[in-house]
Amino acid sequence: MPSTQPEFAWFNGGIVPWNEARVHVFSPVVKYGTGIFEGLRGYWNAAEGELYVFRLAEHLDRLAFGLKVMRFDPGPDRAEMERAVLEVLRANRFRGPAHIRLSVFLEGDGEMSATGPVGMACTAIHRPPTKAIAEGLAAGVVSWRRPEDSSQPMRVKANANYQNGRFAVQEARTNGYGAAILLNSRGKVAEGPGMCLFMVRDGVVITPSITNDILESITRDAVIRLLREDLGVTVEERDVDRTELYAADEAFFCGTAWEVTPITSVDRLAVGDGRVGALTSRVQARYFGIADGSIAARAAWRTPVYGASPDMRATQ
Ligand code: PMP
Repeated sequence: MPSTQPEFAWFNGGIVPWNEARVHVFSPVVKYGTGIFEGLRGYWNAAEGELYVFRLAEHLDRLAFGLKVMRFDPGPDRAEMERAVLEVLRANRFRGPAHIRLSVFLEGDGEMSATGPVGMACTAIHRPPTKAIAEGLAAGVVSWRRPEDSSQPMRVKANANYQNGRFAVQEARTNGYGAAILLNSRGKVAEGPGMCLFMVRDGVVITPSITNDILESITRDAVIRLLREDLGVTVEERDVDRTELYAADEAFFCGTAWEVTPITSVDRLAVGDGRVGALTSRVQARYFGIADGSIAARAAWRTPVYGASPDMRATQ
């Protein structure tokens, strides 16, 4: 349970009290993890009195792709998904950093091959940036491999895929690291559990390409564009070897939950001088500024939560 329990959740068509958002123990999502989800963030802009959801359209696109790959029966449409996200934020009157989870899953009493009935839930919790955003963290390569695309569709945000991430996190913690780095079945760097990875070497930014069994991360796409288009930096998307990480001048993770989190060591070897890198700080500042609207550019990446309902804003 989140540290401060929100009052409301969205569940199957409308807002309900938090504790009433439940599925049955016999549902396929409980028995087999038959569900997909999106993690999104809301960024509060105090000057404007506005909460912005970051790249909502892209998250809904990815969820739609997931529904197709999972072969679920037709479920909630895009308009309802968008309504669920905005209404759960409005119902809870969020005026601060929010982490939103939009889940589509199989209810009923079906077996492993079930395709319906399809349910949908949306929750939002208060989640401020971690202290690793400023300080960076120590990452370690773990022995668990990221499953390959021929085993499970790893570019779908399927609940079942997250068991792999769970093992990676546990191993990293056991070994005293702040975060895990997973290699793929070919032994190349894939990503972290819940985040993509970037390194900087001689002024060039390098990140594993999307055919390395990674999730097609929306933050990764944002970071690549900010680097290339806004900061004029060369970004290479290609295979990355483990030992190449040891040669990095800078490195960072990125993802909705992890935002842009610097990596200061890998396998206890310092990244560069062991401090947060200069380019990492620049892309981080650009990312946060665009996400909360304090930088006006890329307005299409921000969906205002209250702008569309001025009455709500007046009651805040
Ligand atoms: N990889 C995995 C396995 C993830 O779960 C996430 C979080 N969605 C990411 C990468 C980062 O993706 P995004 O930037 O779209 O949040």
